Amino acid sequence: MNKLDARNRVAALAVYPGQPRSVHLTSLALPSLDASDVLIRVRRVGVCGTDREIISAHFGRAPDGTDELVIGHELLGVVDAVGPDVTHFAPGGLVSATVRRPDGCPACFAGQPDFCLWRNYTERGILGAHGFMAERIVEREDHLISIPCELEPVGVLLEPLSVVEKAVRQADLIQRRIAGWRPATALVLGAGPIGLLGTLLLRARDVTVYTLARSRPPTPASRIVEACGAHYVSIQENGIAETAAALPNIDLILEATGHAEPAFQAMEVLGNNGVLVLLSLTGGDARAAVPVDNLIRQQVLGNKVVVGSVNAAPEDFSNGVEHLGEFESRWPGLTETMITTRLNGFDETADIADAATEGIKTVLELP
Ligand code: BGC
Repeated sequence: MNKLDARNRVAALAVYPGQPRSVHLTSLALPSLDASDVLIRVRRVGVCGTDREIISAHFGRAPDGTDELVIGHELLGVVDAVGPDVTHFAPGGLVSATVRRPDGCPACFAGQPDFCLWRNYTERGILGAHGFMAERIVEREDHLISIPCELEPVGVLLEPLSVVEKAVRQADLIQRRIAGWRPATALVLGAGPIGLLGTLLLRARDVTVYTLARSRPPTPASRIVEACGAHYVSIQENGIAETAAALPNIDLILEATGHAEPAFQAMEVLGNNGVLVLLSLTGGDARAAVPVDNLIRQQVLGNKVVVGSVNAAPEDFSNGVEHLGEFESRWPGLTETMITTRLNGFDETADIADAATEGIKTVLELP
């Protein structure tokens, strides 16, 4: 399709937010293409923990005026056509897209919707805006990121990588309070896509990384961890506290397990002047007894920081493109092994909820 024919309807995968396991095929009228818009043929969309939460009806909101939400926020697509004012993209180019769209809060107004103050933002495929699991989508040029063609096999991982890019950038920014700070030893908690991408990113900076996860090795995840020179630890063999006790000062911890308890264990093992970045959106409302006096004393005496980080800025996407390239040259083909399940076309998507819980990363492939 090379004409700007936006009257076409396209097939898409949607849920009824609030209704568990309501994944179904739908059709969507493409919005008309404005001057700064790009028409994109969707080639690949990743499935993540947030999609699982949406499919289980713990999260997600349909756009105004409909009860359906087209899911998917990890995009790799091909430019099909561009509006007359588009300057950076041309048909045939590969693209990914940022997820969040601003509300009018001061942070959004200043160009930082990932720090939205009012939390009235929309997120494509998540909150109030249709996502990318559709044959074609329309997106404004300024929300797109160009992907070099040699990164086609791994470009769908850019969005989750952007989350980790932001996390590590936050740690660096915060630690400007300490002259010459550089993390030497880091823990990554969780070996899902976020944990593994965090492991690769820190290894690309030559940090000594210990990645802790539940499963006993060997697993596809443990192979990735070891192949990039990090250390894989199964918490069934060695817990967080035991692992940390044998290590030098832990400068940085990325928490990406999806559970609350490891976050508190991480606070207990974080080293002096260290930063713990929390990345898990824990769905439940669990309560736990925590050693508050000891935690606070250690936190104060050790100048420690615990920080939450969500979403990402365009800068994190650009850094992500560069780092995906660096991962490829350091460890050719390794990043792609994170994609453990491929669903071919919408016909296989009845499995999407189940496939998403197995392996490392599930992607939907469209022709
Ligand atoms: C996405 C983020 C989003 C967050 C919360 C994550 O899965 O990667 O872009 O901000 O979910 O909705």
